[in-house]
Amino acid sequence: MQMIVIRGVNFKTIEGIALWPFVLVRSKNPSPRLLFHERIHLRQQLEMLILPFYIWYVLEWALKWIRCKDAAKAYYAIGFEREAYANEQNPAYLNTRRFWNFIPYI
Ligand SMILES: [Zn+2]
Repeated sequence: MQMIVIRGVNFKTIEGIALWPFVLVRSKNPSPRLLFHERIHLRQQLEMLILPFYIWYVLEWALKWIRCKDAAKAYYAIGFEREAYANEQNPAYLNTRRFWNFIPYI
């Protein structure tokens, strides 16, 4: 899968963001871990036909924020993020990952 990385973006609080087919990162020399984390998000976005991913992402975050009353904790509880963080250090992960495999992480 093609990934277009835009480096040195002037983000204040985030390391990077995947906006299919682009990955925007703060660092000019991003770690392989960060790039693979974002690559997992690109796969999630593609298999959800892009736009529904963002709607689901924001809704899940909002619901979890309401439940735990902590925006950062809610972010780390999003299924897409949990899957990406759990597998970002396994570069072979996407070779064997099943379709919609973020579901077990919700
Ligand atoms: Zn992420």
